[in-house]
This record gives sequence, structure tokens and C-alpha cells, in this order.
Amino acid sequence: MCRKRQIIHMDMDAFFAAVEQRDDPSLRGRPVVVGGSPDGRGVVAAASYEARRYGIHSAMPSAEARRRCPDVVFITPNHEKYRSLSVQIMALLEEYTPQVEQLSIDEAFLDVTGSLRLHGSAHRIGEQIRRRISDTFNLTASVGIGPNKFVAKLASEQAKPDGLLEVLPEKVLGFLAPLSVEALWGVGESTARKLRRLGFSTIGQIQKCPASELVAQLGTHGQTIAKLARGQDDSVVRTDRERKSVSHEQTFPEDTADARFLRTRLLELSEQVGHRLRTHQLKGETVTLKLRFSDFRTLTRSTTLPQPTNSDQQIYRSTCALLEAVRLANRKIRLLGIAVSNLDRSGQPQLLSIAGSDESDVDRALDAVRERFGIDSVRRARLADEDPTDSQPED
Ligand SMILES: [Mg+2]
Repeated sequence: MCRKRQIIHMDMDAFFAAVEQRDDPSLRGRPVVVGGSPDGRGVVAAASYEARRYGIHSAMPSAEARRRCPDVVFITPNHEKYRSLSVQIMALLEEYTPQVEQLSIDEAFLDVTGSLRLHGSAHRIGEQIRRRISDTFNLTASVGIGPNKFVAKLASEQAKPDGLLEVLPEKVLGFLAPLSVEALWGVGESTARKLRRLGFSTIGQIQKCPASELVAQLGTHGQTIAKLARGQDDSVVRTDRERKSVSHEQTFPEDTADARFLRTRLLELSEQVGHRLRTHQLKGETVTLKLRFSDFRTLTRSTTLPQPTNSDQQIYRSTCALLEAVRLANRKIRLLGIAVSNLDRSGQPQLLSIAGSDESDVDRALDAVRERFGIDSVRRARLADEDPTDSQPED
């Protein structure tokens, strides 16, 4: 198999903020932040392009955003609305290829290598997707096209906002050369520092260095870095159906040991994972909780359920029990994640539901309303305020 791949990366522009500006004309042209309150410890979930001009960006504390721009309008996020739009946008992408890998609520990879005969060039598919998203949802998306996922994603970043950039295979080296080393996947702060100490600040400088030298300096990670710097990335576009697990995680603006805060996050994550499982008609048998402490040590705990599930509440209860079993000993937590694995396709909606309203009926009803109307009025009682396991109160 040596056919050149054609990968598209689609990313909505300032998604949450753009949706709010679309739905409230008085917000258009103004700096808008979707996120938590600037009076508490809220953070920016999304900033409109007008707000970005003041240096405001996502994950920044809302209070800091207000300091930078006192006129900024704060909007509480409406996750049901964004999720329902996301489902419709992903469905539009799947009209071009079944090979769609959703990366987050508003971005996805498409492997269109097999779709070119039917739909024309990748460039044409990219332009069509952008036009249809604009016509259908009155929102803008940016598209990057490249011979692999790594290049396509960097291309869409550079195309923003409301643009398309195609990087042809023979242009990849030149495209990557001026970018800083942090643009390489897997290069975080500490690796970047190491690379700079070795004299590499741009990807172009790494391109000139033999891979063996990088391996000598950085171990096996050096091999990956050498390949990525040359624009080589073999990772496959993985659809949800082929996925071995469905997971979501959240990093907190501040490390915390607040049990109630953690349970609320677990509830949100359970809802996201459950919704994703049901969208793809999947159920899973193993529920995994991931914890990362303030010292970056990471711990995972799993449990196997008697029967596969895609119920928000069951996922929530299992992960709460896992969390309670961890000895936190006053250690603070910076990240929580939930994964459901050992998936099967038994998540198909039943045509006839047995009388009564079990949890799956509730989940399905919520999903149906969210998808059809994308409204905020359906919201589960904040279970996190209740004790999930009837156990002792926390110390
Ligand atoms: Mg985006």
C-alpha cells in the first residue's frame, strides 16, 4: 500500500464564542468570552477573535481576561447547544467519508484518500465542507490538508480564521522548517527546553540533524521527533467505531482536593462519555478513572461491570467509587479523566422499551432532545451535590 494519503483536518473557528455571537446579534463585533465567572475561579473556555486581540485565550482565568479587557462580555457556556451542533457537524463530515476521527467537540480528521473519485480533490472537499458549514450553521470552519494528520492539523492552524491551507507533499519540509519545536507532537515544555539546550529552536534545525544524533541525546523519543520534523507521521485516522475506548478528560485551572468539585467534574465527564457511547451505539464493560496529581504523577483505576453500559449515571457511580477508594492524603489533583473500554455494539436503541423509565430511557430521552433542539432546558439534577454511594461523609 503506497498510495499517498490525503488527510483533512477541520476545526471550527472560536466555536463556542462564534455560536453565541451567531445567536445574539448584539454580541457581534464585540469581545466575547464563553466561560466561568470572572468573580470566582472561572476560566475562559473560548474567546472570540475580538477578545483574542487583547491577548485573551482559552484556559486563562476569567478574572485575568477581564483585567486585560474590562469591556469583555462573559457568557455562561451552553454545552448542550454546542454538543448538539457538534453531532450535526460530524454527520456532515461523514457524508464525505466514513473515515472521520473526532478529536474534540469542534475538530476532526478525515481520511479522504478513498473519496477522491467520488468527490474530486481533497481541496474541493475541503472547500465544500467549509461552504456547507457556513450555509447550514452560519459558522466558519478552517481546513488544513496534508499527506498525514500531523501536517493537516498544523495547516488548519495556519489557515485560521475562516481559511483553507493545503500543504502538498513536496512542500512539507519547507512548511515545517520555520515553525518552533513546540509545534511537534509530544514536545511539551520539558522536551522543548532540552531541544533548545541542544541548539534546536526551529523544526528546520532538527531536519538538518541526523536521526541517530537525536536518539543519542533523547532516547527513543528522538526517533519520533526526527520523523515528525521531516513531516513523517503514519498514524491512522481512527473512527469511533474502531475505537477501543471512549474517553474524556479535563485539566483544572488550579490543582484541587475539593471532593465536591471533583465529583461535579466526574458527572460532566460521565455525561460526555455516555453521550459519545450512545451516539455510536456502543456499550463498554470496563470503566477507568484517571487522576493526575499536582506533581504530574498519574494513576489509573479500573472496574469491570457485571454488564456493558453506556449510562451516564452508571459511569458516574463507578468512577465516584473508584475515586473514593484512592488515598488522596491531601494531595491535589490537576486532571481527571474517564474512559470506558471493552466496547461492543449492543448500544443500539431498543425499538420497544419495557414499561417504566430506567436510566437508559432517561439518557435516550435527554440525547434525543439535545440532538433535535439543542436546548438548555433539559438538564439532569446536579447529582454531584448528592452523595453518590451512600457512604461516609468525606473527611
Ligand atoms: Mg476550534
